[in-house]
Amino acid sequence: MATVGIVGAGAMGLAAAYHALKAGHRVTVYEAGSVPGGMAAHADLDGLSIERFYHFVCKADASTFELMQELGIGDRMRWRDTSMGYFVDGRLYRWGDPLALLSFPKLSWAAKFRYGWQMFRATKRSDWSDLENVTAKDWIEREAGSEAYEVLWRRLFDLKFFEFADHVSAAWIWTRIKRIGTSRRSLMQEQLGYIDGGSQTLVEALVTAIESRGGTIRLGTRVEEVVTSDGRVTGVRTDASTDPVDAVISTMPTPYVARLIPSLPDDWKAAYDRIDNIGVVCVLLKLARSVSPHFWININDPAIDIPGIIEFSNLRPVDETVVYVPFYMPQTHIKFGGSDSSFVAESMAAIRRLNPTIGDGDLKASLVGRLRHAQPVCQAGFAGRIPPIQTPIQGLQVADTAFYYPEDRGISESVRYGALMAANLAA
Ligand SMILES: Cc1cc2nc3c(=O)[nH]c(=O)nc-3n(C[C@H](O)[C@H](O)[C@H](O)COP(=O)(O)OP(=O)(O)OC[C@H]3O[C@@H](n4cnc5c(N)ncnc54)[C@H](O)[C@@H]3O)c2cc1C
Repeated sequence: MATVGIVGAGAMGLAAAYHALKAGHRVTVYEAGSVPGGMAAHADLDGLSIERFYHFVCKADASTFELMQELGIGDRMRWRDTSMGYFVDGRLYRWGDPLALLSFPKLSWAAKFRYGWQMFRATKRSDWSDLENVTAKDWIEREAGSEAYEVLWRRLFDLKFFEFADHVSAAWIWTRIKRIGTSRRSLMQEQLGYIDGGSQTLVEALVTAIESRGGTIRLGTRVEEVVTSDGRVTGVRTDASTDPVDAVISTMPTPYVARLIPSLPDDWKAAYDRIDNIGVVCVLLKLARSVSPHFWININDPAIDIPGIIEFSNLRPVDETVVYVPFYMPQTHIKFGGSDSSFVAESMAAIRRLNPTIGDGDLKASLVGRLRHAQPVCQAGFAGRIPPIQTPIQGLQVADTAFYYPEDRGISESVRYGALMAANLAA
């Protein structure tokens, strides 16, 4: 049995640790942050423990359900009927079901039909090979038409991906459409899930399972180098020590990999460096009043530079209204370094435009979370850019949220990959 070092205590690293321990390995998890959970970690919003970044569950998230069952928390999944809205040019419309589409006044009948047909077929499709080398823009314009693209998609892509907007892969957007489009109770009713107590419930159950099997999680411990010798992994170096290991599973964002594993061949380092990520400044607000009955509102409005807001309390019942306002952007964007207060002010201005009855006095608390690598940019042809998980260095596996393309980043996929990497230890 091997001594395994795992870099990162997000969903992938914790799941890898749990499965590796079950298989009998000795495991230490190294986490740079002060708490476990990575992107799924909780924060304290004025006394409420809640995800720093919004997390909902879809019916397709099979790996999450399987893991929760195994950890004895299968009964903590909750499902709720949810709805979407679309705010276009100053007005909020109901969205997300066939009747909402039929009554939507911003598209011609032909565009509505083509859009609806494309979305319907996307939920039925399982083969993505013909989408792999096509951009999302080309796919949507080809199937739904440029009118639907302009009204429903362009601003969402522009405000999330900026200079990458026209290059995003059709296969990637298809899996997002399918994951949400199939999370329904019926054709007319979307149904999304949350974990009772938040994603922290899953994180805590994993931490408990790891520690009770003798695993160690070292928080606040940044890995500075994965040490290798003669083509195999030999150690994990932190500022406190260099620990001998037989194997390393790295789950940190791939942009860090080349620097932390200098002995990788140059072409491998270049492959990791080629994976672009965008960052996020995610504003979390506690409000005295509800913005709308919808869980999610997409926005296409010239006065709002945000692709959407998430009223999380319309999914997970909490005492007050909780809203997430994500500002996605490349970390190089000038706005990324803006002050927390400027993002809160911009969020409140957007919310007032969505619902003019809400005033500044309704803001009870706010929290701003930032991530430099919040979302890999999966461009057309992305499958060919992902290096294998097993590196040419013996005992070293590397993956992050980009690796399960065409699936979008998500807890379910990360725990699935954690299990896969743990299983590879035996190979
Ligand atoms: C805004 C936002 C919204 C999201 N919404 C959803 C959602 O609704 N549903 C859903 O399922 N998923 C959602 N996700 C995605 C989900 O959170 C991620 O897919 C998942 O948590 C990723 O887990 P991971 O372990 O792969 O990566 P991470 O969580 O990124 O874990 C990597 C860990 O490595 C650590 N690390 C980095 N460098 C080092 C180092 N040198 N040494 C030690 N540790 C290091 C990091 O601190 C981090 O904890 C969302 C993410 C974001 C950002």
